[in-house]
Order: sequence, then C-alpha cells, then structure tokens
Amino acid sequence: AAGARAKTREEKIYVTVRVRPLSNKELARSDTSDWECTNDNTISSKVPVPERSPYPSSYTFDRVFGPDCPTQRVYEEGAKDVALSVLTGLNSTIFAYGQTSSGKTYTMRGVTESAISDIYEYIQKNQDRNFVLKVSALEIYNEVVKDLLTSDTNPLRLLDDKDRGTIVEKLKEEVVQNSGHLQEIIKICEAHRQVGETHLNDMSSRSHQIIRLTVESQPQGLVSETPATSLVASLNFVDLAGSERASQTHADGARLKEGAHINRSLLTLSTCIRKLSAGSKTKGAHIPYRDSKLTRILQHSLGGNARTAIICTMSPAHSHVEQSRNTLSFATRAK
Ligand code: ADP
Ligand code: MG
Repeated sequence: AAGARAKTREEKIYVTVRVRPLSNKELARSDTSDWECTNDNTISSKVPVPERSPYPSSYTFDRVFGPDCPTQRVYEEGAKDVALSVLTGLNSTIFAYGQTSSGKTYTMRGVTESAISDIYEYIQKNQDRNFVLKVSALEIYNEVVKDLLTSDTNPLRLLDDKDRGTIVEKLKEEVVQNSGHLQEIIKICEAHRQVGETHLNDMSSRSHQIIRLTVESQPQGLVSETPATSLVASLNFVDLAGSERASQTHADGARLKEGAHINRSLLTLSTCIRKLSAGSKTKGAHIPYRDSKLTRILQHSLGGNARTAIICTMSPAHSHVEQSRNTLSFATRAK
C-alpha cells in the first residue's frame, strides 16, 4: 500500500506494469523472455536496442511486477489505495490495459476479488457509518453498450442527466447484500460475457467490460439526510479491449481513422489519459470524453477529484516485443 500512497493528489494516475510468465504455448515454440524487472520501478530490455531505435532500453513506473509476482501484491501495491478511496467518497477507476492474452482478465479478476474483500473488511470495522453497496456491469462492443447483469442483449442508450452526467438508460443495478453475494454477481457477468464470446470468438479482445460498484454511506443513527455527511462514490473495474486494437495510434486523435481493426473507445481513452496526465502543465485543456462511449461513461471517474490506477499487462515473449513496446509507450504517456 505504501507504493500507491506515494503520489500526491495532483498526480492522479498511478501506473504500473505487470509481466506475466511465458505461457506453455510460448515455451513450446522456444520463445524467450525479452524483459527483466531490474528493480521495483524499472523494466529493461534484455535484448540490446539498436542505436537509432525510437524505443528506450528501460522504462520507469510507479511499480513494475515481474512474472513471479502474485496478484495479491499487484493489488496491494498497484490498486488498493485507489480502490479504497471510494469509501471516502472519491470516484475511482482501475484499468487493465494490454494486448490480448497479456493477462488483463487474469489480473482484474484477482484485483476485483481482493478489493471487494478489503471494502467489506473496512465496512465491518467502521460500524459508525451505514453503508449501502450497489453494483452494475456493462460491456461495450463496437460502441454498442450491453448490460452484463441480465441475459438481455438489447443495446442500451446513453443519456445526459443534468445532475448525474452520462447515465446508461435501463442499466440494471443490484443492491449487494454481502461480499459473497457480490462475488456471485460478478460470476454471472463473466458468464454473460462468455456467452457472447462463443458467438464471435475474439469478442473479449474487442470489448471493454466495466464493473461499477457504487458505495453510499451515512453516519449511523442519522435522522434526516444531510448532504454534508452522506458520501456517495463509484469504483470502476475496467477490463479493456486488447490494446492491439489501438496500435496504429502512436500520435494523436487527429489520426483517428475508422476501421474494423481500430477501437474508437480505446483510442479516445488513450487520448484522454494522455491529456489528463499532462494536466498540470496544460490546465483547462479540452479532454475529449465525449468522443467515445467508454470515456463518456467513465467521465466522472477520470480526472477531477477521481483516482485512477492503470495496470498495464504484457507478455515477456520475444515474439510479442512490438506489442509490449506499444504497451510500455502507452504506460509512459499515462504516468
Ligand atoms: P487477456 O485478458 O489480456 O486477453 P488473460 O487474462 O486471459 O489475457 O490471460 C491469458 C492467459 O495467461 C490465461 O490463460 C491466464 O490464466 C494466463 N495468465 C495471465 N497472467 C498470468 C500470470 N500473471 N500468471 C500466470 N498465468 C497468467
Ligand atoms: Mg481478457
């Protein structure tokens, strides 16, 4: 947790990189690992980088997690502080970013589970407040939004609400009874996401999943509702589409081109994150939240007072070196 607390409120995006182990498939084709984590903050290329290469040979982040690092530590040092800030009324978002098969879903699953367990532990210990938790879940595929809490696959519309910002019309929200109930609900979401997958096999590489936990709390024994003492905030767990869907975007949103292989939401997110992280230098800069469904939905949980953690996942394999460099470049722009 010490790590995630190191940044000041002004620097809102906490960026970490997780390298997974070589997979059996990679081992079977004698693929080798190109990367080593030289310390807690640095990842370096083991392969010499040509002199005129645009890529550096090492990168520094808030934390770097090597192939032997358990998910619990990734959570504690890369996401815990951001996750728990929802309890104090701050909107927060935890992203997994990386190419397909780099470990996004594996990492987010563990991070979500640990966060839920810590949130309930906190609630147990803070009996002076009354907490109500609600959960919703959705998927964005080709800029179409679908509810993951129901088996209903109708596209959902986004509406602009004067007070609440962008809301997803008819999105189901369930009141959570306890931690076990929440884990059950998340399993249902995963099942709904996988149903889509059998119909279109690279669905999860193209779609974004958001699980949103809303936490409301009031001091115990409060008779009338006093806005000053009641808190409400959302924590978003976001499993992004494979970053190869945005890999043509080294430069700017200006190059944003429509095509089956490009994902508008992922591109817009990259642009928003880059502008937000440059924020302190360019106060008042236009952040193009409205250019995609993902960023519209997350607008109030990105920037402003919101807390953001991005866990970038990558394969160590030589065969993936180009995508890994793209991921590290994204991570560098975000920090
Ligand atoms: P993505 O969601 O990015 O497409 P997955 O999370 O599905 O990737 O991971 C791809 C495969 O690698 C899965 O079989 C997963 O269990 C495995 N994997 C990912 N990260 C790790 C890790 N850190 N340690 C062990 N296995 C991992
Ligand atoms: Mg996945």
